[in-house]
Amino acid sequence: MSELFAVRNLRLCTKDCLCLYVCPTGATDTENSVIDVDRCTGCGQCAAACPSGAIHMVPKVFPAQQEHSALVIAAMSAVLRSKAEAESIAASLPGTLAAAIEKSCQIQAEDLIRESGYMLPQSKNASDFLRQLVASPPSATFPTAAAEKLLHLLAGTGAEPQA
Ligand code: SF4
Ligand code: SF4
Repeated sequence: MSELFAVRNLRLCTKDCLCLYVCPTGATDTENSVIDVDRCTGCGQCAAACPSGAIHMVPKVFPAQQEHSALVIAAMSAVLRSKAEAESIAASLPGTLAAAIEKSCQIQAEDLIRESGYMLPQSKNASDFLRQLVASPPSATFPTAAAEKLLHLLAGTGAEPQA
């Protein structure tokens, strides 16, 4: 198990402030309500005390990704493309059924992306994909500068070597 740090979900936080009392380092008591990663020791007391389930302990380094063969990745990519196409068609149609199909396709596409190995931001797959987009932007409006900045930040996590 890698080291952990606490993350507060501001949407769930009801400001009961128990985490402020139990944190031994004051990491939960910040101006912007975001837990101070530099002061967090990962003890988990805040998460245990929070009555709203608003704090989760997150690993500093995610586990290495499960490997998939090129064939499996290619098959999942093909299904993903068809889901994206169906989502796009449903989005252009009126009615609640179309909206439900759009949402369903989106959720299935997200599952496929995760299974294909692109969901972990620290993974080599994710970095390779970003590099590919930067080198060959898919459209004129693609935010290349933002993608480059993201790549730089991911490199700063020290997790690049993960497969
Ligand atoms: S204990 Fe939970 S609900 Fe209360 S302030 Fe902390 S994070 Fe928010
Ligand atoms: S895990 Fe421990 S040190 Fe980190 S914010 Fe929570 S109580 Fe404070």
